[in-house]
Amino acid sequence: MKKKSIYISYTGGTIGMLKTKKGYVPEPGNLQNNIIYMQEFLKPEIPKFKIKEYNPLIDSSNMTPQEWIIIANDIKKNYNKYDGFIVLHGTDTMSYTASALSFILEDLNKPVIITGSQLPISEIRSDGRNNLLNSLIIAAKYPINEVTIFFNNWLYRGNRTTKINANGFHAFDSPNFPPLLEAGVKIREIYNNKKKSKKNKKKQIKVNNIYPQPIAIISIYPGISYKIIKNFLLKPIKALILCSYGIGNAPQDKYFLNSLKNAIKNQIIILNLTQCISGKVNMNRYASGNSLADIGVISGHDLTIEAALTKLHFLFSQNFSIELIKKKIEINISGEITTS
Ligand code: ASP
Repeated sequence: MKKKSIYISYTGGTIGMLKTKKGYVPEPGNLQNNIIYMQEFLKPEIPKFKIKEYNPLIDSSNMTPQEWIIIANDIKKNYNKYDGFIVLHGTDTMSYTASALSFILEDLNKPVIITGSQLPISEIRSDGRNNLLNSLIIAAKYPINEVTIFFNNWLYRGNRTTKINANGFHAFDSPNFPPLLEAGVKIREIYNNKKKSKKNKKKQIKVNNIYPQPIAIISIYPGISYKIIKNFLLKPIKALILCSYGIGNAPQDKYFLNSLKNAIKNQIIILNLTQCISGKVNMNRYASGNSLADIGVISGHDLTIEAALTKLHFLFSQNFSIELIKKKIEINISGEITTS
């Protein structure tokens, strides 16, 4: 059987970084110079691969919607030449990029795995080697045709992930959706939406543009002043992601509610997400949630902050009307939300 071929784009991030006096920095050539000496990448089980190093390489704290589009266009350009894609990326904003790509890449029918590491691949205890080797094997032999994150032996749906650990190797989790695959002693597929894959088979991949959008995120806390909310809602803001308590509750203070109500009247979208790590918003459970629903706050159900932010970016970039955006935010587009 013909060996599969995988395209790796190295965007930056710890996996290929070098230690300097100022801390870790991305260094051109460093990733490939290390991989050349790793015999395991030459084993027969490993598919053919090509590494494309981006210029400039960036720490993912510097990612913007512009870089998301560069990654997406690169995948589109190479789509017909390769069987799968790996994006090497810093962990800090990996879940944002994964969520964004899930909306940008339409009719995807090949695996796009995003991975990276907590320690550079050049260091003896690096997790980068394991993350990259497993991603290569999964992309070639267990392809799941959507945007995923592979980290510390687990493959997750990208737009369901969030970074949960700043130091540990288990840096990601998918709090509201099961992992797709576990790379244990055996590779165990848990969830592979083959139906979706079949549906997309004949279609050509499409890149939907995303432009930077003025969107604010605020986490409410006991005693928060309505003045703070008002400041967040100043022009040119288009949407506010309100991270509320528990199942979607907020203070019933009339000034607080009025500032939200006025913003909604002025066509600003207020999206309610929970501050909790897992679970979903239900504004009908308590009066303190109901007051938000009554003034027109939209439920974000179980969206992660990363998925909510990038979904809003995507919807605003399509020039839909505010009413249509409000509808679409609550409807599943790319596996990012559980609405039932
Ligand atoms: N600051 C780094 C980045 O996100 C952290 C990492 O790669 O783990 O690029």
